[in-house]
Amino acid sequence: MAEFRFNALKEVLSRKPQEVKREDILTSDFFGVSVFDRPKMKKYLSKEAYKAVVDAVDSGTTIDRKMADQVAQGMKSWAVENRATHYTHWFHPLTDGTAEKHDAFIVHGENGGVVESFSGSVLAQQEPDASSFPSGGIRQTFEARGYTAWDPSSPAFVVDGTLTIPTIFVSYTGEALDYKTPLLRSLRAIDEAATVVCQYFDKNVTKVYANLGWEQEYFLIDEALFMARPDLMLTGRTLMGHASAKDQQLDDHYFSSIPTRVYRYMEDLENEGYKLGIPLKTRHNEVAPNQFELAPIYEEANLANDHNQLIMDVMKKVARRHNFRVLFHEKPFAGINGSGKHNNWSLATDTGVNLLSPGKNPKSNLQFLTFLINIIKAVYDHQDLLRASIISASNSHRLGANEAPPSIISVFLGTEVSKMLDLMEESVVDRKMTPDEKTALKLNIGRIPEILLDNTDRNRTSPFAFTGNRFEFRAVGSSANCSSGLIALNSAVAAQLKKFSAKVDTLIEKNVRKDEAIFQVLKKLIIDCKPIRFDGNGYSEDWVVEAESRGLTNILSVPKALEAFMSPEVKELFKFVEVYDEIELEGRAEVEYEKYFKNIQIEARVLGDLAINHIVPTAVRYQTMLLENVRNLKEVFSEAEYNQLAAGRKELIKEIGGHVSSIKALVKEMVEARKVANKIEDSIDKAEAYDVSVRPFLEEIRYHIDRLELTVDNELWPLPKYRELLFVR
Ligand code: ADP
Ligand code: MG
Repeated sequence: MAEFRFNALKEVLSRKPQEVKREDILTSDFFGVSVFDRPKMKKYLSKEAYKAVVDAVDSGTTIDRKMADQVAQGMKSWAVENRATHYTHWFHPLTDGTAEKHDAFIVHGENGGVVESFSGSVLAQQEPDASSFPSGGIRQTFEARGYTAWDPSSPAFVVDGTLTIPTIFVSYTGEALDYKTPLLRSLRAIDEAATVVCQYFDKNVTKVYANLGWEQEYFLIDEALFMARPDLMLTGRTLMGHASAKDQQLDDHYFSSIPTRVYRYMEDLENEGYKLGIPLKTRHNEVAPNQFELAPIYEEANLANDHNQLIMDVMKKVARRHNFRVLFHEKPFAGINGSGKHNNWSLATDTGVNLLSPGKNPKSNLQFLTFLINIIKAVYDHQDLLRASIISASNSHRLGANEAPPSIISVFLGTEVSKMLDLMEESVVDRKMTPDEKTALKLNIGRIPEILLDNTDRNRTSPFAFTGNRFEFRAVGSSANCSSGLIALNSAVAAQLKKFSAKVDTLIEKNVRKDEAIFQVLKKLIIDCKPIRFDGNGYSEDWVVEAESRGLTNILSVPKALEAFMSPEVKELFKFVEVYDEIELEGRAEVEYEKYFKNIQIEARVLGDLAINHIVPTAVRYQTMLLENVRNLKEVFSEAEYNQLAAGRKELIKEIGGHVSSIKALVKEMVEARKVANKIEDSIDKAEAYDVSVRPFLEEIRYHIDRLELTVDNELWPLPKYRELLFVR
């Protein structure tokens, strides 16, 4: 059997990826074949080099030059055996997507030939020109160099003949220019702060990990139709298009049987993902037509995020093999559901305990409640930062659009967990508790696993929901790098845990017993963060009103939401947990403002072009046909008959004329508004100007185009319509 499987494996691996079939082989047989994971390191590295890497990953020790050389040798041997000819440092710049620059392994050899070579210094560090990546002004033009540095905690892999090494990307002066650097810092911060808190409950805990399980929503569009929509090609979304008569009204797409062509795409994609060690688990149809979801088994957050970025890239590549294009835009089609990325997030110890899962006894349940309550408080205190971390021009179309979380950040806990917090709030007293009081409280806390077992209430309308053993941050956009939300969340929670342990320690120093100290501090937190707890319908109008009365913020404008990055509290927070210094934070905000106005600028240009050179000429042509028709009618019919017949035509001619005039006038005004905005130097003011005076034109112009789409002869209409884009599969 083993022999058979081995031969099958060899045979399958020698085929082109698209020829690999599920039935030929077990997933576990080829899972991770393209990854330089621990088993392969063990095989290709010396004992000491292997230990150096493992220690670096598990305990953060550094790998010296000599060891790096050894690791590089082993990595190269493995990569070359796996048909790699090139290597690249792979990083997450502040754009959407990843960056890579390939170099061949070759160096000059003897007698004019070349030999394959790869050294520790090349593995550890590279100096790409940073000047063409967004830095928000951090990187001075006189020092264009940036550094990429190897992140051993995320294993290297071979993809398309290239050994790919996950790296961080920093400026010459050491500031982060990417998503991974601050993510790693935030993971270290949460590890340190959470480990201290765990020590109250279990002295054996020495490390706390954040886990991430992302759910990736996306649309697939037939490639030919995609190519015929310049707006989709250039902006990722349709800037015009009347709703299809049928779209998602019948709820007949969600979880329905996967269309065959899509299924083949998914299968191909999963095979590629498995080779790269990505534990893809779930695939299904989503709510909107042609919308789908992909989710893996959760992993350590840094690795999970690399896997998300990697699979997004693979998704795009594999789509082309199947003549599809994949859309990650949060709202590619108006009027139907958009795509999000749900970040399922939890904390786990090196002793194997999920800190967001209730335990078997009162002590571990108190630990669970401690983390739960501190997280809620962190979300309450930093709701504006969390919003700023996930908002973007594209995600702003989705948030609050009746299908996606509102722009009000709230926490869903479910009835039973909520009751437990209410009970703690009532029963903890600010004095030494009597043994009876304590027993009663502990008894109640001990009940948590039971109540969670029956607790099936789920709430799909909450941006931040507790789902039994994790929190689910649902406001994240489908095109986003998961890190931006994670950095904010990890940092806020780390800071809160630090404050919590400081308070508990102070009480303990005053001779309050440890468990009572914990109870007392938790009680205060429960009271403080009450306004953020909301179990009701997050999509309702009533919630907007109620949230306001609770003092929660609700910010719809992207530039306004981004202001949170510059607030004194947020600066203080990132300094406190050592995730961003002030320069980095300002640079980050600057990049977001720039992305925002550039995005609107591109959309405005594309819409202007399409309106004037696609839509207006088409409408005028149809209008001319109608005019000719009216003239012909006059020749053929008597005056009375003509008057009757021509009346409707004339109305239509006028209606078309009205829309055409409006489009031309609005495009002109939009261009003027853009000119004014473009003169503004400061990016914040410029983003604001684009938001207030350019963005509204996109909707206004679209209105007239969509009306014309309904009137103009279908044969003349120059763009594929929603009914085609959404139903060809
Ligand atoms: P849903 O019911 O929300 O569709 P699933 O059960 O499919 O969710 O899980 C969604 C994601 O949550 C998956 O990626 C899964 O691995 C992840 N997940 C499950 N448990 C945890 C956990 N403890 N920490 C982080 N992510 C988790
Ligand atoms: Mg989910």
